[in-house]
Amino acid sequence: MIPMRAFNLNYFHDVISLFYPGICPGCGMPLQRKESNLCLYCLLKLPRTRFGSATDNPVEKIFRGRLEIEQANAFLYFRKKGLTQKLMHDLKYNGNRELGYHLGELFARELVDDPGFRKPELVTTVPLHPHKLIKRGFNQSDEIARGFTKSLGIPFVPGVLTRTKNTGTQTKKKRFERWENTESSFELKDQQIIEGKHIGIIDDVITTGATLESCGQKLMQSQGAKISIFSLCISVH
Ligand SMILES: [Zn+2]
Repeated sequence: MIPMRAFNLNYFHDVISLFYPGICPGCGMPLQRKESNLCLYCLLKLPRTRFGSATDNPVEKIFRGRLEIEQANAFLYFRKKGLTQKLMHDLKYNGNRELGYHLGELFARELVDDPGFRKPELVTTVPLHPHKLIKRGFNQSDEIARGFTKSLGIPFVPGVLTRTKNTGTQTKKKRFERWENTESSFELKDQQIIEGKHIGIIDDVITTGATLESCGQKLMQSQGAKISIFSLCISVH
């Protein structure tokens, strides 16, 4: 019998990959040994917003006059049929949680390179409705937040907010109606943990900002809480 250490592990990995090659969710090509989650080509092609800490970036503009925030940012542009949409689809519907983690890490790494970035003290996420959570098995924003906070060395505290009612499909409703509809749908579960803290809220895709606004309002009911918003993607038409 050949002892295990006689195997070159890289060779072993290559042989396994021949039968079960990881596939890049961006382009469908087999991943190479040193590539994880995304091929190098797709990694370089990620449609980064590069908003940096410039005030008045498009995410901050969404919240102007609606929610008092410290900063708001988004990592990638989300376009219909674009690379980001493919990645988000793989994360949400194929359960590629590692990809969410990886994208969260990349987002955080880009932020820390920016001198104007103010690191929050802890991070939480926009909760999924329990029905959706049961159906999907996980909250995609939690995976992003795990990679994001690991990279920044700060705690991720899920469950600070919970959803209290199903807001249903809202895409065809007007912004005001949507706000009305989501306003009462979050509940502050753990007020003490966020008191006086600077909290980062992570979301996957921002469109009108209605859900994040409503989450932010709720968090700010805690005394001295400050809010920053970090959405992995911003939807552009
Ligand atoms: Zn690729």
